[in-house]
Amino acid sequence: MNSNSPAPAADRLPALLKQIFGYDSFRPLQQEIMVASLAGRDVVSILPTGAGKSLCYQLPALVRDGLTVVVSPLIALMKDQVDQLQAAGVAATFLNSALDASEIRARQAELDAGKYQLLYVAPERLLAGDFPKRQTGWNVCAIAVDEAHCISEWGHDFRPEYRQLATLRDRFPGTPFLALTATATPRVREDIVSQLRLADPEVFISSFNRPNLSYRVIPKEKPVRQVWEFAAARPQDSGIVYCQSRKSTEALAAALRAEGITALAYHAGLDAALRTQNQEAFLRDEARVVCATVAFGMGINKPNVRWVIHADLPKNVEGYYQETGRAGRDGLPADCLLLYSRGDVMKQLKFLDEISDEQARGIARAQLDQMTGYAEDDSCRRAHLLDYFGEEWPHGNCGSCDSCLSPRESYDATVDCRKLLSCVFRIRQLSGFTTGLQHVADVLAGGNTEKIRRWKHETLSTYGIGRETPRAEWVALGRQLLKIGLLCQSQDGFSTISLTNEGLAALKDGRSFPLTRPPAAARSNPASATAVAKAGDIPCDEGLFADLRTLRKELADARNVPSYVVFSDVSLRHMARDYPTNAAAMLDVPGVGEKKLADFGGPFMVAIAAWLLENPRQSFAALRPAAAPVRKMKAEGALNGTTLATLELFHAGVSLADIAKERGLSITTIEGHLARAVENGGKFDPRAFYSQAEEDAMREALLGHEGPALSPIYEKLCGRISYGKLRLFLAFQTTTAPCSGGL
Ligand code: ADP
Ligand code: MG
Repeated sequence: MNSNSPAPAADRLPALLKQIFGYDSFRPLQQEIMVASLAGRDVVSILPTGAGKSLCYQLPALVRDGLTVVVSPLIALMKDQVDQLQAAGVAATFLNSALDASEIRARQAELDAGKYQLLYVAPERLLAGDFPKRQTGWNVCAIAVDEAHCISEWGHDFRPEYRQLATLRDRFPGTPFLALTATATPRVREDIVSQLRLADPEVFISSFNRPNLSYRVIPKEKPVRQVWEFAAARPQDSGIVYCQSRKSTEALAAALRAEGITALAYHAGLDAALRTQNQEAFLRDEARVVCATVAFGMGINKPNVRWVIHADLPKNVEGYYQETGRAGRDGLPADCLLLYSRGDVMKQLKFLDEISDEQARGIARAQLDQMTGYAEDDSCRRAHLLDYFGEEWPHGNCGSCDSCLSPRESYDATVDCRKLLSCVFRIRQLSGFTTGLQHVADVLAGGNTEKIRRWKHETLSTYGIGRETPRAEWVALGRQLLKIGLLCQSQDGFSTISLTNEGLAALKDGRSFPLTRPPAAARSNPASATAVAKAGDIPCDEGLFADLRTLRKELADARNVPSYVVFSDVSLRHMARDYPTNAAAMLDVPGVGEKKLADFGGPFMVAIAAWLLENPRQSFAALRPAAAPVRKMKAEGALNGTTLATLELFHAGVSLADIAKERGLSITTIEGHLARAVENGGKFDPRAFYSQAEEDAMREALLGHEGPALSPIYEKLCGRISYGKLRLFLAFQTTTAPCSGGL
């Protein structure tokens, strides 16, 4: 049993958070999880990747009287975490098969002597040999099972050795267990509780939104070129490209290398040594890009993966979410891009047909449908992903997915839809068979293809009636009609299209079709994601940041650890923004605790002081949140039509609620328009939007807030003040606050 009195131990957490880890505040749910666990409860924590789950057992271990055992599935992961803990001055070690016998004996002797507060072990080790006997002397006071979904066959990373953990409870009946995972499905959650035999666990589940990730889908055209352009546009950033086949990971890596990008392949077919070597090279920033199959993932603790591309369509949304989730663990902005083609869907459908088990085939097909639904959705991607996990996104425009950044305009597509539907009808009528969508588009556009000539489709009354519209747009329109069920596609592998009953009815009754326009060309430029709003951004002196990165790499190499063990990018960006040159200022930097200050503070302070001798100190606006959008708007110079329409009504004295009603938009959107106007120099009285009391509350909530994500402020205010008001408030602040040299 845990003999600590929980309250005083929990009271020490905030001070240790600062002293050891260098952080000023807890992330959502971290403290609650720690308090429950310290009170002796079994706890299940379901938090997305990057939410800071490790800290939930690492920090309490420091106030516990005894050893915290952490079960972790991967050798690389253990070493990585132990390296990071040791760099922060925490007595931690690991035991796994990568160590030789004498090393294991030495570490066990140290454990016998009570030298450690944290021990990482592989699950099989915990139960094998004389290990169980030894543990009795180690005063195990808590057990954390990281990546706990590995215990479930329903999860995507099932590991048989995790099943052995079921007997753990017998040996540690009164010890609090803490299970952690980023997998949210109820089935997996139930499995974790029952397999680990958790006793009335307290379950913590946080939002699965990843505010610092942007999401985009573009048509897959020339994937190698698209990936290269994307990577080349971000010359400093690390990224992962997920591919379907082992062969394509290698081909793509080779193609990128030929273009001068340090890229390596990673898949389960490589021999273990090469796999480890490639992974290490990526972790240590020696290879900037990894082209990988889904085998590459869970072990990737690298916090500064700045982008993830899916070059092929993932098999399901869960996998897609987890894979994109590997970007931006450090909370800085990161981009997720999916290259999408109908051809990939067809390819996968063909594979599915080969699954003999009917039920399995059905599930796989449904999952593929969901994935296709995501790729073809023209509404908010973030909302779509969260909806998949049963979570609502109540905030309207997310500001960082392609749909929200360049919403497709709604337009009256009645004429075009009628043309397309009747062309499908006429083809069938004349030929007695149906054709693929591409052919229908050819007929509408008046093409001169072999098929048109062979089937005499130039004689159709619908031939060439859509010449003024590009062929690609006819295809896109056809897909929209498939999506809304006016057309259907044959499942025989040929994917020919025909009218559904509803499509036929629509053609007859002459109804109108409000549709959205297909994506504009800009949306398919892979490099253009740099224009995406950057939630989580920390503007800083980029020249100094680059210098500090070089210094970090030298220090890390000297210690034979990845760079982020020395300091994270977040810490470096803060340094390059605040120019700390004394110990007190350095301790203010997130991620700088006492041990790191002692070990690395000196060289960084010297580097900063040296930089300041030769370069002017830049200043960065205290309120950075809206900085990026302001910069973008100003460069564009003008307000768009929809904003102007709102402004016109507003100046005519129409209330926000009435503008929203009249324009068929949400109030948040209207407030967003006005905020944009303020950002562009529009003069308004803030009192038109919020009261003095609300303003005071917002000002207070904003103190110490960093990054453009509004949700932390919103939550701090318990949802009392709407997102729209927050945005307006920020707009007023940033236009009156001192602007940085960079703006
Ligand atoms: P997860 O296991 O949930 O994916 P990690 O434990 O790897 O997340 O943490 C992700 C990143 O967040 C790490 O770089 C970690 O140092 C950082 N982090 C964790 N807690 C905090 C905090 N309270 N404040 C600032 N950064 C934090
Ligand atoms: Mg983790």
